[in-house]
Amino acid sequence: MNDASHKIPGVRPAIRPLDEAAVNRIAAGEVIERPAAAVKELVENALDAGARRIDVAQAEGGKTLIRVADDGHGIVAEDLPQAVARHATSKIDGSDLLNIASYGFRGEALASIGAVARLSIASRIAGAEAAEIAVEGGRVGQVRPAALRRGTVVELRDLFHATPARLKFLRSDRAEAQAIGDVVRRLAMAEPFVSLTLTDVSGGGEKVSFRADAETGDLFDALAGRLTRVLGAEFVRNALRVEAEREGLRLTGYAALPTYSRGAAVAQHFFVNGRPVKDRMLLGALRAAYMDVLPAGRHPAAALYIDCPPERVDVNVHPAKSEVRFRDPGTARGLIVSALRHALAEAGHRAATTVAGAALGAARPEGGGGPTAPRYQMDRPSAAARAASYQAQAPAPGFAETAGAWSARVEPVEEAPQGAEETPAEALPLGAARAQLHETYILAQTEDGLVIVDAHAAHERLVYERLKAQLAETGVAAQALLIPEVVEMPEPARGRLLDAAEDLARLGLVIEPFGGEALAVRESPALLGEVGARGLLADVADALEETGTAAGLEARLMAVLSRMACHGSVRAGRRMRAEEMNALLREMEATPLSGQCNHGRPTYVELKLADVERLFGRR
Ligand code: ADP
Ligand code: MG
Repeated sequence: MNDASHKIPGVRPAIRPLDEAAVNRIAAGEVIERPAAAVKELVENALDAGARRIDVAQAEGGKTLIRVADDGHGIVAEDLPQAVARHATSKIDGSDLLNIASYGFRGEALASIGAVARLSIASRIAGAEAAEIAVEGGRVGQVRPAALRRGTVVELRDLFHATPARLKFLRSDRAEAQAIGDVVRRLAMAEPFVSLTLTDVSGGGEKVSFRADAETGDLFDALAGRLTRVLGAEFVRNALRVEAEREGLRLTGYAALPTYSRGAAVAQHFFVNGRPVKDRMLLGALRAAYMDVLPAGRHPAAALYIDCPPERVDVNVHPAKSEVRFRDPGTARGLIVSALRHALAEAGHRAATTVAGAALGAARPEGGGGPTAPRYQMDRPSAAARAASYQAQAPAPGFAETAGAWSARVEPVEEAPQGAEETPAEALPLGAARAQLHETYILAQTEDGLVIVDAHAAHERLVYERLKAQLAETGVAAQALLIPEVVEMPEPARGRLLDAAEDLARLGLVIEPFGGEALAVRESPALLGEVGARGLLADVADALEETGTAAGLEARLMAVLSRMACHGSVRAGRRMRAEEMNALLREMEATPLSGQCNHGRPTYVELKLADVERLFGRR
């Protein structure tokens, strides 16, 4: 290896095979690039061995010690030398690389680890004595008797002691320990029925850094329990259960409400046939599913599990196996996007419970909620139907009309109609409007609490949903302006608008060039009523710029619609009458996705009486 003959002029270097230790060391660089990678391989081996309980210990971020003990089926003493040999595996026979159901299959993890650390494996199979083997600097020792009750203990000391260059690339103990924690937690999410612990034994101490006991119950219960452990109770409480199937691909898991979004893509977990993966196509599908309900800069949170026949997905893409390749990526993407959109729409106007929790500053007791069904299910036997019938009797004052003309159009209704079978408004999810505060917030009373609605944000969302519905059906209805409005619009905004003119016409906005730097607006979306053309055009131009020409047409249209909706919304600072407020609440109940505004903020907050009582120290 250190032979420099290839640099001597005139001397042609011979081609020769590398020795085994060198091969292993090079391969180790791919598989074991840091301590966390070794932990991943060892825990996966334990899972492949059918372990129900796995205990991981690490010291100094895994640099000095990594130990993984399991209660799996163990390794036969005579097989121990094979286990640490390169490309030796018990998991596949090589005849069908497209049909892999285990975590491992390359047979190179232990050989690689043996090349870059002091490795020892003690194991015991049922009905035999325990045995152990040690590997140091690639040299495999003798199989010797050992003391062990059951399962396998793999211990790895002084990782990379033989490759100081690599050691230098490792980060601080803390950072490496954190990476190990991430690996353990990800595998814990993949295997809810297995107990896992992670202990920090740095400096001879003993500190449990993660612990998840085996979950029981059906898959969804188990998942909810495990996700509570790993991602926190808040995630599960704000998450929707996802379950869908398409062409042999099954999707299960939990996805958080838009109002529980994060500032970074840190809580997005995918598992393919139980294997944690970080795959760009899958993450992109998740983003696409939330596109409509989250603004730029906010990221959805989800833990999603895709299961399919092994031959439908290739896991053999990368040595560390974190990427996958679907036979038919379109199906996987479509499944994710449609299942999540469906779940989000079904959740209706439910906003994140975190909102009320944060408002109160009072954390709810741990584990109190569990995986709640949406607080107000739109599919609850009759809530939606009742809301609809109520609406039919007291026609929602036209959001179709201008915001200004809105109140004028409402028939003066003193109280909610009190027909015998009529549900009192209090019994409806968003309750009966009682007051408007600061000319912005609607205060409503429900059977067991109170609801505060941000009227502007809520109305904006409703207008947006209506525009979307119109677009899907016939195109947004336009209304011609009596006199076209001429707006000065400097480049590049002017060009951007004209380039999009055809699409904008479908959205009810008809514009034409009008000499120099001007544009003429001939028609505008009827839903918005009388809007200031200048402000509308400026906002639409912004939306076009933000989405960029590269974005798909749908993304651009939605961005434009969302901006338009702002213009048709109830302006903060306008006083509303009781029936207007109630009509707004009823329409929110009947509209999917009305729990958050177009910017992903909640449109309402609910406080249960119990919460209020707690505020006053009554509980
Ligand atoms: P792979 O997992 O790809 O087969 P490894 O190098 O990780 O390759 O392991 C080699 C073999 O050692 C495995 O195929 C398995 O038979 C055995 N083995 C490793 N770890 C364990 C364990 N914890 N329990 C039982 N067998 C194990
Ligand atoms: Mg393995």
